[in-house]
Amino acid sequence: MKTVTTLAKKTLCLSALCASLLFTTNLQAKGPLSTDIKTKSLPTQTLTEARINSVLKEAYAKFKNNQEGKNADYIKALAIVDSKIFGITLVTPDGKVYEIGDTKEVVSIQSISKVFTAAKVMQEKGDKFMQEKIGVNATGLAFNSIIAIELHGGSASNPFVNAGAIQSTSWVKAKDSKERWTKIYDYMNDFAGKELSFNEKVYDSEVNDNKNNQAISKILDARGRMGSDPLEATTVYTKQCSVNISSHDLGMMAATFANDGVNPITKKKLLDKKYVPKILAVMATAGLYDNAGDWLYLTGTPAKSGVGGGILAVVPGKLGIGVVSPPLDKFGNSVRGQQAAAYIIDKLGINPLAQ
Ligand code: GLN
Repeated sequence: MKTVTTLAKKTLCLSALCASLLFTTNLQAKGPLSTDIKTKSLPTQTLTEARINSVLKEAYAKFKNNQEGKNADYIKALAIVDSKIFGITLVTPDGKVYEIGDTKEVVSIQSISKVFTAAKVMQEKGDKFMQEKIGVNATGLAFNSIIAIELHGGSASNPFVNAGAIQSTSWVKAKDSKERWTKIYDYMNDFAGKELSFNEKVYDSEVNDNKNNQAISKILDARGRMGSDPLEATTVYTKQCSVNISSHDLGMMAATFANDGVNPITKKKLLDKKYVPKILAVMATAGLYDNAGDWLYLTGTPAKSGVGGGILAVVPGKLGIGVVSPPLDKFGNSVRGQQAAAYIIDKLGINPLAQ
């Protein structure tokens, strides 16, 4: 009886701790799903130019004036980004671009960079390595949770939470930090089909204030999960998060996944076709953090968000979607980004699980 009571007490304490850690991100707004969209799914239709353009315009008009959510402020430089920026870009696998709004305005890529580092590691080391060394399961906890590591046997769980992303960064084959960073940066540039700019202000702001991520990297190192020095990997990870992207860039990067890993414009092959569904599977499981289930339920679509306000969503073989809008919901996902992408997927009848 005594053991049971002690166990019950321990479980209670653990749950309370988990609950408190769920809110360590200090991000704003409504839940469980801020994309409260009431539309009726249309059956799949041919994606004509006229149809795409009209749905795009509708989505922009419908959500343009929505002021829900709040910029991330735990990275100080993100708090002062213009929260009115709203750009949507759709790119087909053959490279046709449809866009509206502030499609050239840039924000920092933040967690969306995790997708490209994971893809690089998968390309270099294979999908088994990703599954066994880093993991491919959702944590059900905040993206920067430390306790999630302990709860999952000292493992990161997946490459899209901070722990797994820092781990992925550490496993990119490189002789030193400079080479690791250059490889990741070049890889993101190749997905975008151009040289992306670097946001010094965001980097300076975060690199001086990333103790939580440093702690994560040290714990993973203690568990034998890191491929390089933990603090070095954390610095490179912080750099990759500070790369600027517009909705146009995100649309192109998403379309590269929609096009089996080949950039639709440059035709450069960036990821083996066999690995594309693996990366998309993790995006579906954990791309929108602890809101990933609601997102998948609503859209059936692999997607990845970043606290800079970007969202990248992939409709395989059909469309790459990039949206930028800085105000976030409490999970750290762009409010208008989710709304616009979900609306477009629904209205075009392209939910991949409904084909
Ligand atoms: N650089 C951010 C961090 O490590 C990225 C988080 C995010 O976009 N969710 O906290």
